[in-house]
Amino acid sequence: MTYTLIAATGNPDKVREFKELAGDLPVQIVSMREAGFSGDIIEDGETFAQNARIKARTVWEQTGGLVFADDSGLAIDALNGFPGIYSARFLGEDASYVDKCAALNRMLDEKQVPQEARTAQFVCAIAAVFPDGHEAFTEAKVEGVIIREMRGAHGFGYDPVFYVPAFGCTTAEMSDEQKNAISHRGKAFVQLLPQIRAWLEQAK
Ligand code: IMP
Repeated sequence: MTYTLIAATGNPDKVREFKELAGDLPVQIVSMREAGFSGDIIEDGETFAQNARIKARTVWEQTGGLVFADDSGLAIDALNGFPGIYSARFLGEDASYVDKCAALNRMLDEKQVPQEARTAQFVCAIAAVFPDGHEAFTEAKVEGVIIREMRGAHGFGYDPVFYVPAFGCTTAEMSDEQKNAISHRGKAFVQLLPQIRAWLEQAK
């Protein structure tokens, strides 16, 4: 039997990554809209984990299914973790990622942060709400460095300026498979898999 997991996100790039991450799990991942969720989600938490829980809980309340949500973002050390939970919106919802990447580099330039000190993390918290209402949380990160020029055409968001020294390229220069193997979202989702498997076992 194929079980449906609802990804509480409107971001098709994330849904694509989650589908690949689910691998051979006997599940079908659908977006919240495909699951019939309508309405807005007010992300007013103060941490990635709080926002992930708000998204998952809001969609669970309407659908009652097995719902999971991630909240993720870029945390730049020299900017005290900025943009963090504001990664999507610090320049307004409609600004392009070319502009957002440039704005972050400008902030680093204004603080005269040298290239070797432009360290950053992609952080991802995932919250899951199971049909009986119990919850699970995971969190993971990947270390990188913010570079000035944009490199690579894969991925989304800040991937073109997020250089991973261990791999010698940006996350936008990695295939989806490579990125999933090392990424914040990939690692957080893999940490959640045992709990999803346990639910699927007892739901048989
Ligand atoms: P969320 O959808 O509210 O979790 O916002 C995530 C924000 O962080 C968006 O601005 C994304 O572009 C950025 N972000 C999260 N994960 C990634 C990633 O894997 N690559 C590039 N940007 C990311």
